Amino acid sequence: MNDVATQTLATIEHFINGAPSAGTSARTQPVYNPATGAVTAQLRLANQVDLDATVAAARNAADSWGETSLAKRTTVLFKFRELVAAHVDELAVLITAEHGKVLSDAKGEIGRGLEVIEFACGIPQLLKGEYSDQASTGIDVFSFREPVGVVAGITPFNFPVMVPLWMCPIAIATGNAFILKPSERDPSPAMLLAKLWTEAGLPDGVFQVLHGGKETVDGLLTHPDVDAISFVGSTPIAQYVHETATAHGKRVQALGGAKNHAIVMPDADLDNAADHLAAAAFGSAGERCMAISVAVAVGDAADLLVKKVEERALAVKVDNGTAPGAEMGPVITPASKERIVRIVTEAEAAGAAMVVDGRDLVVPGHEDGFWVGPTVIDYVNAEMTAYTEEIFGPVLVVVRVEDLDAGIKLINANPYGNGTAIFTSSGANARKFQRSVDVGMIGINVPLPVPVAYHSFGGWKNSLFGDKHIYGPEGVSFYTRGKVITSRWPEPAHASGASYNFPSN
Ligand code: NAD
Repeated sequence: MNDVATQTLATIEHFINGAPSAGTSARTQPVYNPATGAVTAQLRLANQVDLDATVAAARNAADSWGETSLAKRTTVLFKFRELVAAHVDELAVLITAEHGKVLSDAKGEIGRGLEVIEFACGIPQLLKGEYSDQASTGIDVFSFREPVGVVAGITPFNFPVMVPLWMCPIAIATGNAFILKPSERDPSPAMLLAKLWTEAGLPDGVFQVLHGGKETVDGLLTHPDVDAISFVGSTPIAQYVHETATAHGKRVQALGGAKNHAIVMPDADLDNAADHLAAAAFGSAGERCMAISVAVAVGDAADLLVKKVEERALAVKVDNGTAPGAEMGPVITPASKERIVRIVTEAEAAGAAMVVDGRDLVVPGHEDGFWVGPTVIDYVNAEMTAYTEEIFGPVLVVVRVEDLDAGIKLINANPYGNGTAIFTSSGANARKFQRSVDVGMIGINVPLPVPVAYHSFGGWKNSLFGDKHIYGPEGVSFYTRGKVITSRWPEPAHASGASYNFPSN
């Protein structure tokens, strides 16, 4: 991109204290459309001055927003819900232009985000607290929860609307100010969310967007006026975020990467399993933290299953996400494409069998896009990088095992524990599986078991650092802290004198 062309591009600014803001930094970085390979905008990157200004605005806003009545907060939440629902098409276009996923899939992620806003609309019910009347003679004990204060949300590229909406509706409904640090790869949807929050009547400074990379993240993790961090991204960064922010006294939930296995039993409906496996492996070009990336084919299921998945993989329509009928878009960057191709090539060299090879895919009319076609690799073993690494591309590896016990053992030996699934027609197999796997979210004939908004989302092992899962009841708990009040209102005639013993009931 030459300088003249760069100058004509729009700059995506921060959203600080109720308005778009260029801040004080001149630094920018390009934003791409992965389907065309073209630079579409420049993204403003924050410096320390911008970060301090954003946190100060949040601190100030948190004090008054936390005092705002539940009735008024809920009114804003309902209005925000209506506005997001009315802007689904506009948000989806922004997602597709910077992420590359197809428009229908982009709308799907907005739908899951809307569910969390709807859950947060019921916040008065969730914050009711508890009351013990006459816990001791003349003494009542009650508890309630207060906002933690200033929350920073640091989010990944793969769900630029849904993941921020896993966090901010609940953080805001519970009375906090929220600073979103979106992915640098697809920052535009966050700006529309900021505009919609403002239109919904949210006071300035309660929801802000600050753009940047590692420096900005580090600034948030260590800032004395940030109270809590919600992070979603890759495992090494999640671990780093958790360690750094907890060392600076913050409450942290840091969700990491995944390697999700689906066991397919010989008793499963193999057509159904193949449909779901293909959709869960290739949807969104495999760039989902809940994507199925390992098919664990048990016994006799393997040959037929691989044949059926092959047919489906070859039929996937890969195109620009805006093209009618497109089912899968590009991957996010050229570096991501190179890494995926390298891992597939290593698996082939190590003796795995290429069933469908998407490495050389070119989409006519979009020769500069970042394309990898659906890829299926059979006879993968647990030593190959295609198995040990999160590929985060449209690649399904097949590992063949003897029986269900071997499949469960494989899953439990894996360092990730985000999601997993089993395809079976046996209740006994399903029950054994759900009770034995060390994984946070489990699907029974459901490939992407993303919990509904009134349950919470979270993996085990290297897929989550911290104690609380995200959204749902655990989200409410994460964004609030408890107070317990022990109260006595003695009538003057009954007031007792001082007692120096430890109080007993
Ligand atoms: P990433 O870890 O590269 O980036 C996530 C965020 O961290 C971004 O905002 C980025 O700016 C920031 N960041 C990147 N490098 C950093 C560094 N060195 N120091 C501080 N901050 C840094 O992740 P990504 O590539 O954007 O997203 C894909 C990853 O996210 C995958 O591993 C996927 O499994 C994971 N993910 C997990 C979940 C989940 O719920 N567990 C959900 C979505 C995505």
